[in-house]
Amino acid sequence: MLIVQKFGGTSVGDLDKIQNVARRVAVTKKNGNDVIVVVSAMSGETNKLIEFAHYFSQNPVKESMDMLLSSGERVTAALLCIALNEMGVDAVALTGRQAGIKTDSIHTKARITDIDPSLMQCEIKQNKVIVVAGFQGINERGHVTTLGRGGSDLSAVAIAGSIKADLCEIYTDVNGIYTTDPRIEPKAKKLDKISYDEMLELASLGAKVLQNRSVELAKKLNVNLVTRSSFTDEEGTLITKEENIMEEPLVSGIALDKNQARISLFGVKDRPGIASDIFTSLASDNINVDMIIQTVGHDDSANLDFTVTINELNDAKSIVNKFISNGDITDVSYDDSICKVSVVGVGMKSHTGVAARAFVTMAKENINILMISTSEIKVSMVVSEKYAELAVRSLHSAYELDK
Ligand code: ASP
Ligand code: MG
Repeated sequence: MLIVQKFGGTSVGDLDKIQNVARRVAVTKKNGNDVIVVVSAMSGETNKLIEFAHYFSQNPVKESMDMLLSSGERVTAALLCIALNEMGVDAVALTGRQAGIKTDSIHTKARITDIDPSLMQCEIKQNKVIVVAGFQGINERGHVTTLGRGGSDLSAVAIAGSIKADLCEIYTDVNGIYTTDPRIEPKAKKLDKISYDEMLELASLGAKVLQNRSVELAKKLNVNLVTRSSFTDEEGTLITKEENIMEEPLVSGIALDKNQARISLFGVKDRPGIASDIFTSLASDNINVDMIIQTVGHDDSANLDFTVTINELNDAKSIVNKFISNGDITDVSYDDSICKVSVVGVGMKSHTGVAARAFVTMAKENINILMISTSEIKVSMVVSEKYAELAVRSLHSAYELDK
């Protein structure tokens, strides 16, 4: 098999851990596989470099930031390569540029536009293990770029897609994806397999494990992703096409997002184009609106409720204020003590009553549902934040995820 193995910051957190990674890679290679390793900077290293830059400037030149930050990954790649060779494994370390990773020019947040895998293919033919510095590429003008925080996952997935690897393993300090956050529900179970779409909906469960952009890319490039721990031999969770999952469970997991706030607009003028005006203004300020509910009142006005993430609340407030001052809205209220609980599963597509069961469960616990939204594979409910943990645990058992 051709395997891409990506090791995150905690997996290469110190020299002993890099040695441990080298052992793992050596075993994979000895078992007859071709291996491309993608590494992050040692944990804390990228933050340290950012702090260094802030010593000189609060707004450092972005090109230089990329030059600076890309060095963290290079250090790890070189050290791992040295360790591998010492073990008798023929390995070569490559920067993003040498690995052929081309990006656009949006420094510190670049997107991969293309990969030229010719050098990697050539090294693999010579039976070498390749260690690539993650998180970086090169733009058209030959300048170093970085892919945004957590971007090494993207490097790994993009490389796996371009060289048609059989598997892309993402190693971190957690064992895989769980049916819910084990800190909230200790009975949470590790999932063996999950579809790309479910993983994207369960983002809050996987946030510490996998960057969402890399799951989207894996789906697009058809890369079989596995998340697993670099500290145990336990099998991880396979994230793959829906067709590859034989027995689809009704529900795969319960996600919790506490990072939500509700905005309620009252006396919204009932005229064509008003929703378009409000949400276009929010969108042009890059504010992500999630759930939207409109209720029509008795007079000529409507109420409009929607949710945004807490860190975008202030920006949203200033936009809403503009609509109040020009008379389109009479009043507004904000509530940041809410959370969103979501029930996710591809099995919902072919079964009825899944949403009803969620509502019954909330009713039994006397939890008031403030907002509801559904998609083909998800039922989301907004409830008061004080019920967050209770809601998660009762849903987890209502769908028998602990069995
Ligand atoms: N080192 C970079 C970061 O800390 C990229 C990564 O670890 O994936 O964001
Ligand atoms: Mg990471």
